[in-house]
Amino acid sequence: MNQKQVPFINKSEMIKWLDEARQADHSRINEILDKAEAFAGLTHKEVAVLLTMDSSEHEARLFEVARKIKEHIYGQRIVMFAPLYVSDYCINNCSYCGYQHNHEFKRRILTQDEVRLETEAIIDIGHKRIALEAGEDDEKASLDYILETLKTIYATKSGNGEIRRVNVNIAATTVDNYRRLKGAGIGTYILFQESYDPDVYAKYHKSGPKSDYYWHSMAFDRAQQAGIDDVGGGVLFGLGDPLFEVLGLMLHQEYLEANYGVGFHTISVPRIRPARGSNNKYPYAPNDELFRRLVAIIRLAVPYTGIIISTRESAAMRKELIDCGITQLSADSAVGVGGYRVNKMKKEAAEVQFSRCDERSTSQVIDWMLDEDLIPSYCTACYRKCRTGDRFMQLAKSGQIKYVCQPNALATLAEYLLDYGDKQLQNKGFELIDREIASIEREDIREIARKTQAEIKQGKRDIFL
Ligand code: SF4
Ligand code: SF4
Repeated sequence: MNQKQVPFINKSEMIKWLDEARQADHSRINEILDKAEAFAGLTHKEVAVLLTMDSSEHEARLFEVARKIKEHIYGQRIVMFAPLYVSDYCINNCSYCGYQHNHEFKRRILTQDEVRLETEAIIDIGHKRIALEAGEDDEKASLDYILETLKTIYATKSGNGEIRRVNVNIAATTVDNYRRLKGAGIGTYILFQESYDPDVYAKYHKSGPKSDYYWHSMAFDRAQQAGIDDVGGGVLFGLGDPLFEVLGLMLHQEYLEANYGVGFHTISVPRIRPARGSNNKYPYAPNDELFRRLVAIIRLAVPYTGIIISTRESAAMRKELIDCGITQLSADSAVGVGGYRVNKMKKEAAEVQFSRCDERSTSQVIDWMLDEDLIPSYCTACYRKCRTGDRFMQLAKSGQIKYVCQPNALATLAEYLLDYGDKQLQNKGFELIDREIASIEREDIREIARKTQAEIKQGKRDIFL
């Protein structure tokens, strides 16, 4: 196995920083919160202070600042997506994975016809953005298969809908393969680190290519070298000390920024869920209180990075996490291969990788979001306008991006309401759209938003800035 040192992780130093951070006094903590409140982001040492602080007064301010950043940069918009699992063949052996503990189940890989059926099912519940997921198996689900699958997804249409952006979450691979993925028009390349602690990583990943900590940890370097400049990281909270994991995420972020000019486009925060058949206990699984705090700290540290939550969390928890800084949600997700339509047609249940907690349908989620004054956004404009990598970050940091996000989000919400909503949902949704347009500060942008809405009502689709 490759024993090379990952350049941005030094376990003993990180433990030392966390210990030192515990000594920070009130004025130091306030100074850090002030800096975050000015949308300046935080260094890993500042993050260490927030991770270890222990005062309810500072904690209350942390949540206040997280909410302020969220509102200022993202408004009420929440980006919606659906995962699409195409193959559960996998040669790795992650001990927390449902697939590994259900040796009895029949593994499967979708044929291209089945990919089309699944994609149609996802389109028919209103989604425009997919996260493509596959286990690692070069023989059964080769890169050629993934590329073919991407083509099929992008070519599938149903009614007025289509998939406009496919983010890809597949195993760490070579620069050449990343180059081919880039050529196939992927959105973000997503890879969860699972754990930044090399010892914890080794404990949970005992065999297969993923057991190589260095290969896995350096995947985004290879992706960047291949020209993929939107990369999405994440850890699986519950494997190792969550404070260490957030510090690891921040060090990785700083390393990417220093070397490639841009850090994570998104950060995912999955929390461990029981896998059927697994007896694993997870003493490090953060409770709700700590988890909310971790999300808020990430929001302060990287104000311009999207934070993603999946259906692993309950509906109530998802709302609380939105207030702490979450900006992307999956809804009505099938977390098994063929789970949207193919298996239902065959009357067999999809075998799932983890159990989900939020079981609501997409329309129920949208209805709930509208009640909460949240704006479900199906926008994919940046990727299609080549606003990726540091081009995206510069626009985001300038504060100008909201002038494209808001009309775009409202345009995609109008599409959703007209194409997939019933009368009651439409009334509620268009009321919110009217209110939101009226509150846009710039008159020229208000006008553009109104014109776009009128065109969508006349039947035009896919209008974006
Ligand atoms: Fe394979 Fe992913 Fe499961 Fe690990 S978590 S065994 S990589 S499918
Ligand atoms: Fe996201 Fe860009 Fe659309 Fe804004 S304009 S919602 S950043 S894709």
